[in-house]
Amino acid sequence: MSKNIILLGAPGAGKGTQAIKIAERYKIPHISTGDIFRKNIREGTPIGLKAKGYIDGGKLVPDEVTIALVDSRLKESDCAKGWLLDGFPRTTAQAEALDKIAKVTTVVNVDVDLNKLSDRITSRRVCPDCGGSYSTVTYSNSNCTCGSKLVQRDDDKEETVKSRLQVYANSTAPLIEYYKKKGVLVSVDGNKAIDEVAKEIAKVLG
Ligand code: AMP
Repeated sequence: MSKNIILLGAPGAGKGTQAIKIAERYKIPHISTGDIFRKNIREGTPIGLKAKGYIDGGKLVPDEVTIALVDSRLKESDCAKGWLLDGFPRTTAQAEALDKIAKVTTVVNVDVDLNKLSDRITSRRVCPDCGGSYSTVTYSNSNCTCGSKLVQRDDDKEETVKSRLQVYANSTAPLIEYYKKKGVLVSVDGNKAIDEVAKEIAKVLG
């Protein structure tokens, strides 16, 4: 059976880092709506132009834009044997739309202490080339291991983080209950070290 996995969790929970490992392990595409939006913004596409204001303000891009984007991505041939969604769905409307597109097999909720998130996000530095993600707390080098210069995402700055965490609490956290009711939710403790969280995820995904 194909693995259609969703990674759920607050901004800064470590979804992106874990997503890379899961996608490698099961050889399924890692689909991050945030990454797709940022690529569109860099390339100045119509979707990028629509999304930029929302992302810069720490708000969600409207459902109709995001759902259409994911719908067409999941129709690509590399998704035939499964996929891993990172950052989608983020609203009940998105989850309901996804239910009409495909059958979700497992939702992994990366559970973290909400009080730690703001610090985690503002200390995050990312590689614009390979997508690597680091914390200034544990990684003092200004370059990625691939050699490119690390940057701070504009929406990881303190003023935007507050709004993103509020949006998570209001719009995305209810999805935990949504998927629990469907019997597909598993929660892992995202406060642990990266490798320990990865092990826990591997255990629940089998
Ligand atoms: P992320 O990289 O997942 O933290 O996403 C960065 C930003 O992209 C979010 O703060 C939103 O503005 C936008 N975004 C990503 N995924 C979604 C989604 N599923 N629905 C609406 N907006 C999204």
